[in-house]
Amino acid sequence: MTAVSTRPPLTIRMRAEDNVAIVANDGGLPEGTSLPEGVPGAGLVLRDKVPQGHKVALRDIAEGEVVLRYGVPIGYAVKPIPAGSWVHERLLQMPAARALEGLPIATVKPPVAEPLEGFTFEGYRNKDGSVGTRNILAITTTVQCVAGVVAQAVARIKAELLPRYRNVDDVIGLEHSYGCGVAIDAPDAVIPIRTLKNISLNPNFGGEVMVVSLGCEKLQPARLLPPGSFPITDERDPASGPETICLQDDVHVGFMSMLDDIVQSARPHLERLNARKRETVPASELVVGVQCGGSDAFSGVTANPAVGFCADLLVRAGATIMFSENTEVRDAVEQLTSRAATPEVADAIIRELGWYDRYLDRGRVDRSANTTPGNKAGGLSNIAEKAMGSIIKSGSSAISHVLAPGDKLRLDQRGLVYAATPASDFICGTLQLAAGMNLHIFTTGRGTPYGLAECPVVKVATRTDLARRWHDLMDVNAGRIADGEATIEETGWEMFHLLLDVASGRKKTWAEHWKLHNSLVLFNPAPVT
Ligand code: CA
Repeated sequence: MTAVSTRPPLTIRMRAEDNVAIVANDGGLPEGTSLPEGVPGAGLVLRDKVPQGHKVALRDIAEGEVVLRYGVPIGYAVKPIPAGSWVHERLLQMPAARALEGLPIATVKPPVAEPLEGFTFEGYRNKDGSVGTRNILAITTTVQCVAGVVAQAVARIKAELLPRYRNVDDVIGLEHSYGCGVAIDAPDAVIPIRTLKNISLNPNFGGEVMVVSLGCEKLQPARLLPPGSFPITDERDPASGPETICLQDDVHVGFMSMLDDIVQSARPHLERLNARKRETVPASELVVGVQCGGSDAFSGVTANPAVGFCADLLVRAGATIMFSENTEVRDAVEQLTSRAATPEVADAIIRELGWYDRYLDRGRVDRSANTTPGNKAGGLSNIAEKAMGSIIKSGSSAISHVLAPGDKLRLDQRGLVYAATPASDFICGTLQLAAGMNLHIFTTGRGTPYGLAECPVVKVATRTDLARRWHDLMDVNAGRIADGEATIEETGWEMFHLLLDVASGRKKTWAEHWKLHNSLVLFNPAPVT
């Protein structure tokens, strides 16, 4: 049980035209509470107990009348809702999805903000021009079959070799469930294949590509990394395929010979990685992926607006910031197409979201499948409401590029990018890694211990209650915004400085400290066999 708040009753309304506000107090507010002067709904007496983060009607809402939050319809009342009532999901009918036709195209021209100059971090510059924030040996795998062997080889490399290479942060196996038992020639199989390839080339791995293969799998090493499509860092012929340890090769007699071979092959890669040094680079080299998971009604009030402010700072500093989660932006598609920098960018948004609509159609679901029981318990009635709170973390800049799932950003693609991915936390994070993310921001209201081995994850709590309970898991407490102790701008700047510290290796995130790592989860819309 959460203790009932001792603070005065506090409600938060996002826009003046909204007819609902959310209750900010820890533990919610009991029936009969009267809302004090100075807060939205002042003078109203609550007709129900309203849980924290849930909505209260600020005036009488008639049956069929629109319920507005963020100034947009989040539903229609299925029966009359008197002022002071708890407005929960069973009282709302969800608005229809916006068709992908007749959308406003590149109509909003955000004012060009002054560039932010002089911000730097200490990063690892790669030969291809990208910059890493960590120095990691990542072993690519072509198929799930080799996962157990690679895990044991990684444990041995860490125990036997890593202590001698002080500049190398970690050794990881890029394990996944793909590679065999899949329809690899299906048109949509290009998505998991390019995702795996592009993750191998993530800037945090320094261009060192080393592959462990089984031998008989469908995803052959040369298909994953065709010659000429990736850097060769050793003496080999550039026309050869990737350096591969193939477990089924005749040279391997017994399990130990496989492990020995992988450990030996790792050595020259570690030598080269160890020779890398951090150097001062402009903040524009950051490629930040943003995501939210375990969202509640505060996500869109505290953490996501602060991330949005930080996103604008990053764009002003010349950096790249990527937002994603198709089902969470779909209901606000006109905001995306209108903020597209050019008609071509708007077309790409429509193309990606249209493809995703058809993908969901094939599975006979729609976007309403997105909201979780936890979202609803946290006060988010439906996906329309969740979308408005989610999209706010993209800030206010024009959208300059769009990526299809698994695609990698080119180095000249900077600014605000929409990377079209599913909203599933692990799938989205995996696809953002493939896009070239070197730093990750993750906001959460309900709480998640999410982390990635491949890249630092800065976690932002939406509520002080969560930040207090999860004090050694959350890196930023955006709940102070709802408590009236910090502004959105202050929290956004705090995040911006923290990102530079984490990118430089001066600070570790809590997920790094505890080594909390989620699996790579590929998005495979193609059939399995
Ligand atoms: Ca998510």
